[in-house]
Amino acid sequence: MKGFGVRYVDEFRDPEKARNLLKEITGLSARLQSGKARPLQIMEVCGGHTHAIFRYGIETMLPDEIELVHGPGCPVCVLPMGRVDDCVTLTEIPGLIFTTFGDAMRVPGSKKSLLQARSEGADVRMVYSPLDSLRIAQENPDREVVFFALGFETTMPSTAMTVLRAEAEGITNFSLFCNHITIIPTVKAILDSPELELDGFLGPGHVSMVIGNAPYDFIAGQYRKPIVVAGFEPLDILHALWMVLKQLDEGRSEVENQYARVVPKDGNPVALDAIGKVFELREFFEWRGLGSIDHSGVRMRRPYEKYDAETKFAIRSTRIADPKSCQCGEVLKGVIKPWECKVFGTACTPETPLGALMVSSEGACAAYYQFGDVEKIHARRAEVKAVEPMMARTRS
Ligand code: SF4
Repeated sequence: MKGFGVRYVDEFRDPEKARNLLKEITGLSARLQSGKARPLQIMEVCGGHTHAIFRYGIETMLPDEIELVHGPGCPVCVLPMGRVDDCVTLTEIPGLIFTTFGDAMRVPGSKKSLLQARSEGADVRMVYSPLDSLRIAQENPDREVVFFALGFETTMPSTAMTVLRAEAEGITNFSLFCNHITIIPTVKAILDSPELELDGFLGPGHVSMVIGNAPYDFIAGQYRKPIVVAGFEPLDILHALWMVLKQLDEGRSEVENQYARVVPKDGNPVALDAIGKVFELREFFEWRGLGSIDHSGVRMRRPYEKYDAETKFAIRSTRIADPKSCQCGEVLKGVIKPWECKVFGTACTPETPLGALMVSSEGACAAYYQFGDVEKIHARRAEVKAVEPMMARTRS
């Protein structure tokens, strides 16, 4: 099965090869799960994998013996409400231009999203990279420009390099509202969570391009769980799942790299160098639905503090609890499936998201809403509709 012979994108979607992999997966999982009370639980850490799994219907093809748990690897989805409120506070500073990636515009804050702030007159602009934001700062020297920096190690290098360029070019009206997060402490927190009993992991492809494979050694060594770094095409995901099962079947727990065509063993030294120069770990960082996780976020190092919007504009981290009806945390930890949330598809839809998992296309709820089992979605809606009049009677 090793090197299953694909070179072009079409070949990564070859139905015949997918059928062969599924046959192997079915055989292995039946043997591994035999007699156990629960299915094998494998977490895909990365939001890009979650999207691909729903988009290509991979979950529905898998045997009942395997359950995929959708992890916290969508940075927009884990952004806490308080940080969105802090963004809105920044947009209210007279003359300030706030720049952000498009998918962060709709994340709900406790009062409004950035999109709503813009509709009320704030100067919020969508950009495709931090360099776009730096260019806006150069074009508007008499105004402060803030870039909403968020994402895992995948996007951290471009932000770090933008700060280095701002310094090299002597640009002083540019700063970051830094919400970058790091994946390793989060996976550790998940492994320590008593609510989850995971059997293995699909490792994040994009983050691993930057950090390499070595940071995952503790998962295989200390926690004795297999992890396979995976690509994003359907055959990549099926192949990586097969590799996880093969490890379980042979009693191994190792870090393997299915995505070796893109992910170098030691990551990207230039990107790691830029990250190391500009950022240092925060003591703790708040995650939506997961609470505070030690050393899971980064902040600017002292020499670059002048580019830190939090310091420059004295922003104090606001802490706001999620709405009671929102079950994002339980979905993020894999305790419930997206469609089991009380407001899925009713009060919470991609058009009117209550929780952040419904905003980004990498969020499990948005992916499930777009590509998931339509019957389950309709059944859930009917169930909620039937209960609503009773609830109303109880309230009155
Ligand atoms: S349906 Fe909405 S509120 Fe419920 S878990 Fe998903 S995003 Fe969160």
